[in-house]
Amino acid sequence: MSLSEFQLIERFFAGLGAARADVRLGHGDDAALVDCGGATLALAVDTLIEGVHFPADAPAASIGHKLLAVNLSDLAAMGAEPAWALLALTLPTVDEARLAAIREGLDALASRHGLALIGGDTTRGESLVASLFVAGHAGEDALRRDGAQPGDWVWVSGAPGEAAAGLALWQGGARDGPGVAQLLRRLHWPEPRVALGRGLRGVASAAVDVSDGVVADAGHLAHRSGVALTIRAADLPLSPALTACAGERAMEYALAGGDDYELLFTAPEAATEAVRRAADAAGVTVRPVGVVAAGRAEVTVIDADGAPMKVVRGGYRHFDGEGGGR
Ligand code: ADP
Ligand code: MG
Repeated sequence: MSLSEFQLIERFFAGLGAARADVRLGHGDDAALVDCGGATLALAVDTLIEGVHFPADAPAASIGHKLLAVNLSDLAAMGAEPAWALLALTLPTVDEARLAAIREGLDALASRHGLALIGGDTTRGESLVASLFVAGHAGEDALRRDGAQPGDWVWVSGAPGEAAAGLALWQGGARDGPGVAQLLRRLHWPEPRVALGRGLRGVASAAVDVSDGVVADAGHLAHRSGVALTIRAADLPLSPALTACAGERAMEYALAGGDDYELLFTAPEAATEAVRRAADAAGVTVRPVGVVAAGRAEVTVIDADGAPMKVVRGGYRHFDGEGGGR
């Protein structure tokens, strides 16, 4: 039987190497946390492969943008402030116009977040593969996936599902039309929720970024926290653009789409005002969409009548077997 991505990581890479006292949090969260000279750093790396993580015909500038955005999203999920990056790039050919555009997309987002590219590696290979390693400052109160407590509320930022609907549209050849531009923007130019993550430090009890889909990533949080999560489907924000383009599949995209790079987080009910203040300060909308309870670490999605719903699609799977992950 083939291993899932997560089984593979557990089997071959968990606990590898020395056990160091300065590792505050190892693999299993959105980023690792290490103590360094009195500071806590958050470290993460993510890879984009042409044809897998972005369509080969995606606007070149958006490739640079998205490469950084997906990594900043992992820092956002820890409440960390981005600082440095290293870029490992594999290219089939040297296409100067394409490289200039990739640089432009990367540079614009990096500048906005105060991040410096300080090194990397460049090689020739069969298709475009870009890995970015990012590091940033977190604190004692960094957000993690494992802090959710029974009684907490589950929140989600933005309008999940738009990026996945955008991908279906892009693959179907749609380039404009009512709502289409918005969904394509969410696909190609995701906005990592860095300010929201930072503002939720000391407020949220746990957080994860939504890269695999709301239900799949809620599952990761449930699993790491050892709690049961219930998501009320009727409370998920469905944007007018999503409803206009996806019709009756809108809810499916919102629950199981991926690539949103929103934050899904939990917070005690008493922190509701503080959550809203953090969201307002970050200029991001947030919605309470569920609750945390003691019980088996899994996610139940319920409809408006409280009846359990079956979610058709799981998270994106790179390998066979159960589980998911991008
Ligand atoms: P995300 O989608 O948030 O970037 P992933 O699903 O890629 O996270 O990875 C899940 C966890 O497994 C992360 O904590 C990541 O650091 C860890 N991980 C992934 N691949 C490896 C590997 N080859 N060796 C060690 N840890 C890994
Ligand atoms: Mg993540």
